[in-house]
Amino acid sequence: MSTDVSFDEPFVAFARPDIGREEIDAVREVLESGWLTTGERAHDFEREFAAFVGARHAVALNSGTAALHLALEAIGLGRDDEVIVPAYTFTATAEVVLYFGAKPVLVDVDARTLNIDPAAVERAMSARTRAIIPVHFGGLAADLERISAIARRAGIAVIEDAAHAIPTRYGGRLIGSASDFTCFSFYATKTITTGEGGMLCTDDDAHAERCRIMALHGINRDAWKRYRAEGSWFYEVVAPGFKYNMTDLAAALGLVQLRKVRRMRDRRQEIAMLYNGALGQNAHYEIPSFGDPEAHAWHLYPLRLNLARFRIDRSQFIDELRARGIGTSVHFIPLHLHPFYRERFGYRPEDFPVSFAEYQREVSLPIYSLMTDREIQKVIAAVLDTGRQFSA
Ligand SMILES: *Cc1c(COP(=O)(O)O)cnc(C)c1O
Repeated sequence: MSTDVSFDEPFVAFARPDIGREEIDAVREVLESGWLTTGERAHDFEREFAAFVGARHAVALNSGTAALHLALEAIGLGRDDEVIVPAYTFTATAEVVLYFGAKPVLVDVDARTLNIDPAAVERAMSARTRAIIPVHFGGLAADLERISAIARRAGIAVIEDAAHAIPTRYGGRLIGSASDFTCFSFYATKTITTGEGGMLCTDDDAHAERCRIMALHGINRDAWKRYRAEGSWFYEVVAPGFKYNMTDLAAALGLVQLRKVRRMRDRRQEIAMLYNGALGQNAHYEIPSFGDPEAHAWHLYPLRLNLARFRIDRSQFIDELRARGIGTSVHFIPLHLHPFYRERFGYRPEDFPVSFAEYQREVSLPIYSLMTDREIQKVIAAVLDTGRQFSA
């Protein structure tokens, strides 16, 4: 451990997008082309993304939330249906279920992986369950084998919330074609970004077609085809759709980011291994469970504090790291603790004991490809220093 790190150096941000000259040039090219919204770049991005993850169809959208929404629309989710989602996730995973007047049925997660617990899924199944939405927490694949088996037996859909999972490997293949739908996010902090954006992947032709139509006002042909010289002015509205299409500006960013995806992931793995090496043997901390490190996207590094070893709580720990120049975050505030879910469904904190307990001791450390070696050492020094100073 280097002892020459000064906490007076510039602040280490929690996340920073890896945007370079190539992204800037790609966006400029689109600006100069005169075609800003969905067009050739979006189609190229869909084609390259589908080929990369090994999916038959990829539909480029303006958010990961839109992808989740369209997947549920495509299966015909109805009022009073139920969809099983982990309590330990971002609100997007569950809010899309509420768009339909259906019920998100929360279940607890596995304490080791923080991924949805298949045994809890089994217990939550009912005659009204229409789908399961596992989240690949932090970029570590959920137990799709067991979840798919449960879904198959019941004849219901699996919709993966893969917002953290590009690129995550599962069973020797990249996440993207294992289930009925896989939904990716390109939000600014995600592993590849288009500022805002998302991608829905499916191997089912009819599902893909429905999602494409609903992503653009329920129109049966997209604007790109409509306005091309050889195209026609005619279109038909076949359903009350949404406005979820990805712009060419965003897709131009996505194409460059996708070509860098491997390099960025490999750097995040290096960072994770340095954190593991420095913190893994320290009684104050529990390092993330990761299985095969090569299979992990390493979107997050969810460190957990052994609170019994501390005189301070997690939020004071975060303050101490900030005072030492380190930005952190918490993933996640479990859904059942938020006022909306608490009031609507009457949840109490202890209803999902694992989510509740792990939330109270989780701190996500910075992990992104632009981090310098010095910044990594500074994070490690700040974590160790805080543990020493506030040891119980
Ligand atoms: C970011 C995120 C989403 C939503 O993605 P957007 O592109 O921001 O809509 C959904 N689920 C999880 C777990 C996320 O982290």
